Amino acid sequence: MDREFRHLPSVDRLISEERIRRLQELYPRASLVELIRQRLEHARLAITAGNPCPSVDEIVDSICAQVYALENPSLRPIINASGVILHTNLGRAPLSKEAISAMNAVANGYCNLEFDLDSGTRGSRYVHIEPILCQLTGAEAALVVNNNASAVLLALTALAKKREVIVSRGQAVEIGGGFRIPDVMRQSGAKLVEVGTTNCTYVTDYAQAINPRTAALMRVHASNFRLMGFTHLVTLDELVALGRQYDLPVFDDLGSGCFLDTTRFGLDPEPMVQQSIATGAGLVFFSGDKLMGGPQAGIIVGKKQFIDKLKKHPLTRAVRIDKIRLAGLVVTLIHYLKGEAISRIPVWRMISAPLAEIDQRARQWAQPLQGLAQVVEGETMIGGGSLPGGTLPTRLVAIGGEGKSMAQALSERLRCQEMPIVGRISGNMLLLDPRSVLPEEDEEVLQALHDLAATLKQSKN
Ligand SMILES: *Cc1c(COP(=O)(O)O)cnc(C)c1O
Repeated sequence: MDREFRHLPSVDRLISEERIRRLQELYPRASLVELIRQRLEHARLAITAGNPCPSVDEIVDSICAQVYALENPSLRPIINASGVILHTNLGRAPLSKEAISAMNAVANGYCNLEFDLDSGTRGSRYVHIEPILCQLTGAEAALVVNNNASAVLLALTALAKKREVIVSRGQAVEIGGGFRIPDVMRQSGAKLVEVGTTNCTYVTDYAQAINPRTAALMRVHASNFRLMGFTHLVTLDELVALGRQYDLPVFDDLGSGCFLDTTRFGLDPEPMVQQSIATGAGLVFFSGDKLMGGPQAGIIVGKKQFIDKLKKHPLTRAVRIDKIRLAGLVVTLIHYLKGEAISRIPVWRMISAPLAEIDQRARQWAQPLQGLAQVVEGETMIGGGSLPGGTLPTRLVAIGGEGKSMAQALSERLRCQEMPIVGRISGNMLLLDPRSVLPEEDEEVLQALHDLAATLKQSKN
């Protein structure tokens, strides 16, 4: 092992390597020396663990890779041709131009986030958004936090800790990535009382579970699955009526949080925030970056008596929203108030795009690929825990057909280019869906497909 250690190059030796010297154009010398020290320390640990000493070339390679990675941060834009409009792994909702410029404006300098310009004294960040949310949903009060999971956690911590919350067994859902709503709820210190069976829950199930420790009745949107066949769920109306009888609030976790009637677009009805408020829910929770089409946030609307308690709770500070997303949220909500959500908010532009338009774009995309691609009928998924099982008709560009490995190679190639394009694979085909791509991005896609066609033709010859 000692011999291995002796093979390790010195810092001086490495810093004078030609490739490392050239890195000094990108990265200060002192930081390079620090990187080299860290790399050598890493190598020493590896040798102690019984590994051989890395060569000078290997060490230089890894240092170069580390510095180049700083030039190209790993988080970057992609084009989502997967056909899932709201994809958590792909960053959920793209934002409207207006929301982006509002976010830009407050990011650029200072703002009156918590400063009352009229009086020149301390203000609250929530005043910028609460009246808009109340106007839009009909709620008495509103609060915005980091994301919907923290909204639910905050509300149950502040209002149900050490007490019980009754929820239907059919609504104790996992929302993806291994995150389960009941686990988030339990973190609050509230006891979840699951009632009913997986497929059937009746009002009497809730009623029988009510006792002096009960703090609330809770409804959770099934988000990403759909019960079919022999089922029975209690409506919000019934829950609210039961709550009134026992003087208990109903908490409604809507997940996606929709303000528009989805049946207009041929989709299943998605519960709307304003409906929940009108029905009498005490608190309604939803995400800012699902169907609402704004930046990540957790939005809580409902009765003033509860919202006031949440505003005072210390956890509110721990899960608060930042100025940049707040600015984007406000502008996104104003799109709804002005009746321009469908034309301005990207997710609604995608949902409402006529099939004929998608068809035309798909044909355009297929053109550079000539015989190598076809336009086929398909379906776009909404995703994002909304409209489980709900899809929109679309046209897909299908490329491949010569075995699964070819589709995979094509997919990898599009994914690994400068502006990655993410499609989906079905059978032997790579499928690209124009519906989840903004028309503004078409030129970029066309260029990529042109290049792809050139390589495919070359490999055929
Ligand atoms: C998506 C979802 C959440 C979590 O929302 P985030 O904004 O991702 O924290 C909570 N509840 C339901 C029902 C959901 O669908």
